[in-house]
Amino acid sequence: MHVHSPRHHFPRHSPRRLPRHFTRLRRALAAVALTALALTAAACGREGSPPVKGPEGSELPRYPVAENFRLPDSPTWAKAKKRGHLIVGAKEDQPYMGEKDPASGLYTGFDIEIAKMMSAALGFPPKTIEFKTIASANRETALQNGQIDLYVGTYTINDKRKKLVGFAGPYYMAGQSLLVRADENDIKGPEDLAGKRVCSAAGSTPYQRIQTDYPRATLIAYDTYSVCVDNLLAYQVDAVTTDDAILAGYAAKVPDELKVVGKPFSEEPYGIGVPHNDNALRFALDDALVADEKNGDWKKAYDATLGLSGVPAPKPPPVDRYPAS
Ligand code: GLU
Repeated sequence: MHVHSPRHHFPRHSPRRLPRHFTRLRRALAAVALTALALTAAACGREGSPPVKGPEGSELPRYPVAENFRLPDSPTWAKAKKRGHLIVGAKEDQPYMGEKDPASGLYTGFDIEIAKMMSAALGFPPKTIEFKTIASANRETALQNGQIDLYVGTYTINDKRKKLVGFAGPYYMAGQSLLVRADENDIKGPEDLAGKRVCSAAGSTPYQRIQTDYPRATLIAYDTYSVCVDNLLAYQVDAVTTDDAILAGYAAKVPDELKVVGKPFSEEPYGIGVPHNDNALRFALDDALVADEKNGDWKKAYDATLGLSGVPAPKPPPVDRYPAS
């Protein structure tokens, strides 16, 4: 749901098919547009404005920048030091987690706060981070070809990906879930997806899981979940599936139109992606995460972002400092 230009993503309808859901759709769009207006107003000229509803920019934690920090064994860090700032891959359409304000260009959300903490720990002022939006299917390539230094965007750590990139963390444990229209009564869990049209992002673990574990669902892939949500509101698909942490943000934007159903049916440990074999960087980020969990910054960041979904801060999962590759 790209709040700034929702129409852009809608599939073309034949004129005959339009009237049936038109009023409903119009209402949903109006709600989205209103939210966009409110957000734009709130975002004006402020650093770190909230994604859905939330704190003043000044309520977001500030992370002290490590002084005289050096990590010469990390080629990624050395390159960033020369450049003068970090380039971080992120999502731009996931409220609460990673969202870009179209008016100001600012990114906000829990993943963005994690990126800022990491930047500060590596000796780079968080304000200097250059964020680049990278879709789920392109993350490994972006890290492999040096387009980004780190990736922080609802990125599940798994063995298959570990062959291509490194992961610090995890810093959060999410779980795959389902988003449906508010008036949907037939879908309560993944076992109800047989014969239903289910949308997810290409290259994601939730897409993969439906394909292998629920083959009777009709699976539809887009680059981003927000396009899936547009299609859900437009009655082109019956459900959107990805992590609960992501779906909560979409449901919060149009609570009268959308709901998250059932219980999470997977474990998605979120990691910070780094270039493969840059073990020095990975271990430095692991250390930084442990420190931020200890000094309260992790919780402050959660409370100011994802915590606005109404779920109190969980205990972060233990950092998995796996051996050097
Ligand atoms: N955490 C899942 C993954 O990394 C889904 C979310 C996403 O696509 O970013 O594939």
